[in-house]
Amino acid sequence: MPQEKLLLIPGPSPVVPRILDALALPTVSHVGPDMGRDLKESCENLKRIVLSAEGEPFIVAGAGTLSMEMALLNTAGPNDRVLVLSQGYFGDRMAQICQAFGIGHDVLECEWGRAVTPRELDRRLKTANYNVVVCTHVDTATGACAPVEEYSQVLEKTGSIFIVDGVCATGGVAERMDAWGLDVVLTAAQKCLGTPPGLAILVFSERAMEKRRGLAAVPAYYSDLLRWLPIMHDPSKYFSTPCVNEIRAFAEATRIIIEEGIEERFERHDLFAAAIRAGLAALGFSFFTDPRFEASTLSVVRYPDGVEDKAFRAGLNANGVVVAGGLGPTAGRVFRMGHMGNLTSAQVRFAIEAVEKTLAGLGRTVAPGAGSAAVDDILTA
Ligand code: PMP
Repeated sequence: MPQEKLLLIPGPSPVVPRILDALALPTVSHVGPDMGRDLKESCENLKRIVLSAEGEPFIVAGAGTLSMEMALLNTAGPNDRVLVLSQGYFGDRMAQICQAFGIGHDVLECEWGRAVTPRELDRRLKTANYNVVVCTHVDTATGACAPVEEYSQVLEKTGSIFIVDGVCATGGVAERMDAWGLDVVLTAAQKCLGTPPGLAILVFSERAMEKRRGLAAVPAYYSDLLRWLPIMHDPSKYFSTPCVNEIRAFAEATRIIIEEGIEERFERHDLFAAAIRAGLAALGFSFFTDPRFEASTLSVVRYPDGVEDKAFRAGLNANGVVVAGGLGPTAGRVFRMGHMGNLTSAQVRFAIEAVEKTLAGLGRTVAPGAGSAAVDDILTA
């Protein structure tokens, strides 16, 4: 076995042994009782994770991009207009999906590093009507977390269907579907939920389901939620073979989340983000994201003068930690460190120690232990 590295890219996140063990269970019949029990339990737990009593969960083989596509295709009809709130790379992807399917849409965007403000949304809504509004909760390229609750307050009076891309947030950052009136939360298995990649995951509110039922047909077959609905209610039925092992692993992942407690999990993400940022700041790094919008699931980190991106990331890798480079306009200028899912405080400490070792290896003078001390101040406060 090659030496394992600590995977701190902004997803996939590290997968704990309990989930890997579930993944390695024997493949069982896709319409049999073991699979049925795990799929039903996953759906029930998923509702608890997004704080929805009546939502309809969907869990199908795919990835986050499929759940984005499914959300749009099952809510936006031929006469509808979609508003995409884009704070970066994945908001732009939403617009590209609209384009690919000929869905009428406008984009309200902002510069990288912050999110569209509720006031900007309100101003736009005074000039046009939208049947569907989509936002990215946390943009994985910029590290910005959108004010989803405030958006939903602005949207309340419009009757628009509100879709939230939670791929880099669900299970790590609060998404209170019922309390905030979110219509669709879409996500994927591999980030805050801590499962290996391979699942497109959505929860539709009753209102969003009504919207789907009101669309005579959608330009989709595999992605048509009405084909999946009977399977989600009764997994002994067949539509298309679900990825049995991945779903069994996901069931275990949701059990871990319920055992931790969803509110405790959100708090842990806040705590680890603060600890990691304190450690990095103590070592001379600064941050790309506007502090008013910083997400607790990843950090987009600027280098101190004289530290070169490729050399730093290669050195960090050699010291056991994998991080990602910047995307788009930030490429070469930042690194992105994910801190989501089933991370432990020991892993947080290890990561900052590895950063410190890497800087020393690059010939920088750092006060020995400065990063770790800053981490400990937060973790033990
Ligand atoms: N939305 C966001 C916010 C993401 O971070 C990602 C993946 N990084 C996606 C959508 C797309 O997910 P996937 O790569 O699983 O298709």
